Amino acid sequence: MLNFLIAVLAAVIGFSFFGILPYGGLDILFQTLVFILLCWAANKIFTQIAGIKPNPESAVITALILSLISGPFNVWSDWIILLIIAASAMASKYVLVWNKSHIFNPAAVGVIAGMVMGYPASWWIGSKYILPVILLGGYIVLKKIRNLHLTLSFLAAYTILLILTRPLGQLSGVFLDSAIIFFASVMLVEPLTSPQNKAKRIYFGIFVALALVIFQRLGLAYSLELSLLSGNMLSRILSPDFRMAVVLKRKEYLNQSIIGFWFDSLRPIVFQPGQYLEWTLSHDKPDKRGIRRYFTIASSPTEKEILLATRISDPGSTFKKELANMNPGREITTSKVSGDFILPKDTSRKLLFIAGGIGITPYRSMIKFMLDSNEKRDIILLYGARNKEDFVFRNLFSEAERIGLKNIYIEGGIDSEAIKLNTPDFTERIIYISGPEPMVEAVVGELKSIGVKKTMIKTDYFPGYEKI
Ligand SMILES: Cc1cc2nc3c(=O)[nH]c(=O)nc-3n(C[C@H](O)[C@H](O)[C@H](O)COP(=O)(O)OP(=O)(O)OC[C@H]3O[C@@H](n4cnc5c(N)ncnc54)[C@H](O)[C@@H]3O)c2cc1C
Repeated sequence: MLNFLIAVLAAVIGFSFFGILPYGGLDILFQTLVFILLCWAANKIFTQIAGIKPNPESAVITALILSLISGPFNVWSDWIILLIIAASAMASKYVLVWNKSHIFNPAAVGVIAGMVMGYPASWWIGSKYILPVILLGGYIVLKKIRNLHLTLSFLAAYTILLILTRPLGQLSGVFLDSAIIFFASVMLVEPLTSPQNKAKRIYFGIFVALALVIFQRLGLAYSLELSLLSGNMLSRILSPDFRMAVVLKRKEYLNQSIIGFWFDSLRPIVFQPGQYLEWTLSHDKPDKRGIRRYFTIASSPTEKEILLATRISDPGSTFKKELANMNPGREITTSKVSGDFILPKDTSRKLLFIAGGIGITPYRSMIKFMLDSNEKRDIILLYGARNKEDFVFRNLFSEAERIGLKNIYIEGGIDSEAIKLNTPDFTERIIYISGPEPMVEAVVGELKSIGVKKTMIKTDYFPGYEKI
């Protein structure tokens, strides 16, 4: 997201220099730098008061969004307005909270504060020249963060509602409006203020579109911001999510490169086996991959501690280096229990679990859960890893043979031949696939080539890794 926003800013500054946009390129650059400075400083002060480690990356993202939708200001004469907008946006993250997590999109709150001071957001980003950059960049980012469905549900609902509610003559100009597309690709999808699972995110998109059209019909100013804030509120009511610090208790090497981190949580975390958490680990000089990651909860809800298991690579990200160097007693922030990669309710359904390398983590949670609750199911686990030293949790999986698990370990990749050979009844099974993204995509392709229906496949992608 950060790179996308920087690219949009670079484009608008460039277009302004060449006179394509009617703004001063330098004014926009200054405004952006001042917003970054103010958001960063305000965030630092508020986190110090709240006793939380600051997350500079999210402060910079908010600053860039604010710069793209408000003003352009003259930073010398309007600095007090920039200060109020930036400080309100940052304050909202620590004041307007519920369950230790902010409710509203900080940039939208900042913009409303500017409006109250008589300086509403101009949405100057709404220009046909910037549209291709937003469309292309937005598509790439949303695909990467797997959130295209939210943006599309909003845009589709908004388009339909406009067609239904406006005379044809008034429709021109409202489609492919770059401000609306920027709003839908950047602000709407903020993970901490939108719902957790896919279905709820689609409803959230439709709700925000409906609220927007109603506010527009009522003639309310700032209907875009207000529709988002109403959506954020609904999202929090539907998903009373939390943000919680967990404390590292111990860590252990599960093989040469996979480390298991066991955490104590202050309050119980409610989750289903196979779900994941978002983990935020503030650290100095983070690389461009940033300070947040999704990790599956590899422990079972029946266990007291939370297990995060991950592969440490060389060269690795700064996040993983910081994680690997954590000592017992250190805290890390978790939020958002999410994920649909869970066991079917019907215990009589036959299952095939396919794991590639570190993709074993959700199955560890499910299998441990079934063992502890003595839940018998017909499951075949096809577990592929680079070599035999790489397989982890083998003792647990052997123990689970008593509740119906059949374990097959494969050195190297899993292809259609291995699937046919080891699971002759594969067409009768719901097939779960978890692992590095290229591995999951390859296995889905193999399954389709042997006639497995899409509806029988469930996937859990681990982006960032290239191979098992
Ligand atoms: C729903 C979900 C659940 C997930 N669950 C898990 C889980 O349980 N366990 C898990 O490990 N991951 C999980 N992931 C993936 C996780 O979020 C990370 O994307 C993944 O671990 C890669 O982490 P990383 O970006 O820190 O890169 P690293 O793990 O540090 O590196 C990954 C690859 O990128 C290369 N690389 C990294 N940094 C650099 C650099 N600076 N220069 C050159 N090459 C570099 C490494 O050499 C390596 O090949 C999950 C993802 C999702 C979406």
